[in-house]
Amino acid sequence: MTTTRRLTGFKPTGHLHLGNLLGALRPLLAAQAHTDSIAMIADLHALTMDHDPARVRALTLEQATVLLAAGVDPDRTPIIVQSQVPEHTELHYLLECVAGFGEAARMIQFREKSAGGGHVRLSLLTYPVLMAADILLHDIDQVPVGEDQNQHLELARTLATRFNTRYGKTFTVPEGVRPEAAARVMDLAEPSAKMGKSGSTGRIALLDPPEVVHRTIARAVTDELAVVRRDPDRQPGVTNLIDILAACSGRAPGDGHSYGKLKREVTDAVEALLTPIRARHAELSADPGHVREILAAGVAAVRPRAIAAVRRTRTALGLLN
Ligand code: ATP
Ligand code: MG
Repeated sequence: MTTTRRLTGFKPTGHLHLGNLLGALRPLLAAQAHTDSIAMIADLHALTMDHDPARVRALTLEQATVLLAAGVDPDRTPIIVQSQVPEHTELHYLLECVAGFGEAARMIQFREKSAGGGHVRLSLLTYPVLMAADILLHDIDQVPVGEDQNQHLELARTLATRFNTRYGKTFTVPEGVRPEAAARVMDLAEPSAKMGKSGSTGRIALLDPPEVVHRTIARAVTDELAVVRRDPDRQPGVTNLIDILAACSGRAPGDGHSYGKLKREVTDAVEALLTPIRARHAELSADPGHVREILAAGVAAVRPRAIAAVRRTRTALGLLN
């Protein structure tokens, strides 16, 4: 029996937050034992928008450390930094030769993020092709994706299928899998928007100290209705708190709860998840050299397969190997 191969990516554009934990990291941890998963810090993707070099480098190491602190087992799940596996960029170019300009320009995220005008990096346009390369390079068959990534995954499937049809079977065509619980954690200050790494005030970063977590939840936007119930349309803030409580603790709020009591319960549930992550992170960050070694081992673990995939692709396209 062959084991399912999965890839989960995190962009070093900010501190990892509760949405990343519940939507991506926990599903990765749950799947570790029965899949061949790869955890990737997508540093090349962090270069598609205006960026601060020192910050990207620091966040890359921080995210790797947080993944380890949260329980990613590097012996089971290689943790790789995207740019340290040069085959990602090599395959990216080769796949650009089967992707259409219109296909890339049509991507909703590209249109949204480039809408402000100004200087738009060409890499923002081509990044979905790099994402396809990330997936196809490692023979991934399942990609856990939030809704915001559906269109990009579809492009990866299209490119794989087109390539296989035109040049012979080269790639596994990946499937999207949706994480079950809390697929989308909303921003606590603005519950109509998803919690994100940048530009949000109602975000709980995994390394926030307890008093910050406490304050962010205490200030979470609710409503005037004063009933604790799930009603995403009329009570998005309260619904988000209920969903976070369920995702963190498996519990529903008790009957007759006030918003204050609900917030205290959510705070306790979130703290129960974050306390051990913070503690382990503090231990691990005392020895960054050890984390760097784990990253080097991750690269070494995935590279043979990546090199083989690029070689197959080169041959299929008519390049002299
Ligand atoms: P950015 O704002 O830079 O896009 P992000 O917070 O969306 O940052 P990513 O690095 O793009 O984080 O995503 C990492 C993983 O976390 C992805 O699998 C993504 O689907 C998931 N994720 C991101 N935000 C949330 C959220 N609010 N709820 C659930 N999952 C999320
Ligand atoms: Mg994102």
